Amino acid sequence: MPASNTCVKTGQGTVAMTTIPYPDEPGPGQALIRTTLSTICGSDIHIVDEMPLPPGVPMGHEAIGVVEAVGAGVTGVKAGDRVVTGCLVCCGTCRRCLEGEHQVCETYNSPGNLLFGAQGEFFLVNGAQTSMAKIPDSLADEQVLFVTDIMSTGFAAIERAEIKAGDVVAIFAQGPVGLCATAGARALGAGTIIAVESIPERVAMAKRFGADIVVDPADAVAKIMELTGNKGVDIAVEALGHQVTFENACRVTRLGGTVSSVGVYGAFPELKLPTSGSFIHRKLVTTFCPVGTARLERLMAMVSGGKVDLTPLITHSMKISETPAAYDLFRKREGGVLKIALRP
Ligand SMILES: [Zn+2]
Ligand SMILES: [Zn+2]
Repeated sequence: MPASNTCVKTGQGTVAMTTIPYPDEPGPGQALIRTTLSTICGSDIHIVDEMPLPPGVPMGHEAIGVVEAVGAGVTGVKAGDRVVTGCLVCCGTCRRCLEGEHQVCETYNSPGNLLFGAQGEFFLVNGAQTSMAKIPDSLADEQVLFVTDIMSTGFAAIERAEIKAGDVVAIFAQGPVGLCATAGARALGAGTIIAVESIPERVAMAKRFGADIVVDPADAVAKIMELTGNKGVDIAVEALGHQVTFENACRVTRLGGTVSSVGVYGAFPELKLPTSGSFIHRKLVTTFCPVGTARLERLMAMVSGGKVDLTPLITHSMKISETPAAYDLFRKREGGVLKIALRP
């Protein structure tokens, strides 16, 4: 029976390492993965600090690994395969999955379909047949890690807004998801990309990932209206999860344009829809992270085709056994931290 040293939530705001036993033989539809590379996400901080999930929850939903064993019914992958798992698991056969909306799978929706336990030496995946994809030999773990979540979410922020070639796109906040939205806007055909950020390392990374102009959050609305001849942008992405950035994203969106909200408003029980400047004839879209085997393969194709390289997001490297200390570092957003690679 493999025992995994795994990071778990121990109370509101706290995590610790503990030993979790996993079965030699996974159950039907499951796969047991031996982690080779993992990381921490902004959603983890929301789960630990704000959400009422009970102590003992195994943390982590972004990881690469090697299949240790599969349960009955899993034919897509076998022991020894190097795989990437989506941060949300899916069944592949419910109505939503059949319509391509694997992120809102109806089978694994209680209480949610988030993957748990990826910040550990081993983790168990439900819906393994459709929630994972084999990684091509030509791609390193580090190149693929963000396919699990933030690349898919960041790209989806642009895709859900139905970008047209040449669109002017503003992206509020250049944390890991915002930076992926910037990279996505470039890869998907934006004409001009305006990033909103003030932390120097994130400003530099935004330019590296495709931002043409970076404006300070303090006067972002005025600056963006000036840059667009007072018309506003075609697409404004909210990638922070704050009321003020949501309002500002609405304010800079042109008539007929789209506000695309992917920030996690974990600390805010409600979000007010601003009417100043008028919300009439704008479109508002939001999305969970798109997942499923085909989605993972498409994103890896963008990476292997040289269209996007997100490896610069890995700013720090630690051991999986040091995950609690990594939470402290990640939470402080100091020292230029964007994503922390966690290895066994
Ligand atoms: Zn995440
Ligand atoms: Zn499903």
